[in-house]
Amino acid sequence: MTEFYKYYEYVEQVFPLFTVWLIIIGACVGSFLNVVIWRMPREESIVFAPSHCPKCNKNIPAWQNIPILSWLMLRGKCSNCKAPISARYIIIEAMTALLFLAVWMRAFKIYRLKIDPDVMINIGVWHPSMILLYCVLIAAILSLSMIDIDHRIVPDQITFSCALFAVVLAIAVPGSHEIVGAPEQLGNLYHKPLLLFSCMGITQFYPILESAWQVSLLDSLLGIFLGFGFFFVLSQVGKFFMGDKTFETEEETTITIDEKGYVSDYDDDYMLWEDTFIREKDELIIEGRIIEGKVSKVDPKALIMKEDGEIILTEDYLKFNDMEYKLEDVKSLSIKTKSWTIPLEPLGMGDATMLGMIGAFLGPGAVIFVLFISSLSGSLAGLVKLGFKKAKMHTGIPFVPFIAFATILYIFFNQFLLDLWAYYIQYINNSGQ
Ligand SMILES: [Zn+2]
Repeated sequence: MTEFYKYYEYVEQVFPLFTVWLIIIGACVGSFLNVVIWRMPREESIVFAPSHCPKCNKNIPAWQNIPILSWLMLRGKCSNCKAPISARYIIIEAMTALLFLAVWMRAFKIYRLKIDPDVMINIGVWHPSMILLYCVLIAAILSLSMIDIDHRIVPDQITFSCALFAVVLAIAVPGSHEIVGAPEQLGNLYHKPLLLFSCMGITQFYPILESAWQVSLLDSLLGIFLGFGFFFVLSQVGKFFMGDKTFETEEETTITIDEKGYVSDYDDDYMLWEDTFIREKDELIIEGRIIEGKVSKVDPKALIMKEDGEIILTEDYLKFNDMEYKLEDVKSLSIKTKSWTIPLEPLGMGDATMLGMIGAFLGPGAVIFVLFISSLSGSLAGLVKLGFKKAKMHTGIPFVPFIAFATILYIFFNQFLLDLWAYYIQYINNSGQ
């Protein structure tokens, strides 16, 4: 206990200072995330290019680059061309600052609980390095969410490097991963995320480990294995069943295309382009021939195909007979076909690598929780969208934000949830006697 009293006094003294620091650091990291979110999918340099207005290209001076404050001072407009600057920038900065603050408050609260023998019963040790671990994880999932919403991709640069960071930290500072029991009491060393497994009696297969870093490393690796593995299997199954879908008909079907989307007389389901091409590489492939069409600045006769061929449409272009036109120039097309392939959205490998990354930070217990909550909230949102907007089943919604939401829930409420679980197990055991 004396050890913790010493900690407590120290933490109590630095608390106000650190609170202000965490907010400032959070806002700055948020500002950096905005750069990552914008530049990484566009393969622009993240570090070696000054910030510039995307509209007028004018470099942004340092005083206009102060997180949160600059946006407010400029009232969300570029000082040069008055182009509006999205409110998203300030929202990301404020969210990062608030979440960093929440991590710090939680760490502080647990130190305080530790001190009061009446309150403290079996609460996990919060090693100061967990603040770093959680802040890095929060930064990663925030940027991944926004990139997924914008581009439907999950960059490996973020997931791989952050997972590596979590594994290295597990070895270097085992306390960063939730371990219950001080390293000197190795006899009853176990770690909290595995409480779930211990309740299910799985830990008896768990190897006996001799030092804290082995426990935290194993935790991290198990997290990667479970997180990535589960989604990998699911995405392979998904690819088999979904991925894309080919329609074959005996009779010729007519597919009619206009500026906003297409419809086939096979199912009379009008599909918007934005709902057809979800990912950047999605293609609508039609084996058939164009019988009439209208494309800006193109002679309509040049569009007519005498023989069947492959007509490919993506979110950018229309391609057939080695000719390529911009999709935005396509006014109308009428195509006769017996076979066409539409893209469907399977569970992406991106979701798998992201869940593996979360496993590296939080261990296998968190992966199970995040999987459960994210798929539940994701399906609910999907149903709501289906109900309101009459969206098609396969249009889908970005899943990464739901994984992020579940992860944040886990970070701040896992103790509460594990207590709840423990009560439940206790209740079951008692009622069984
Ligand atoms: Zn500008």
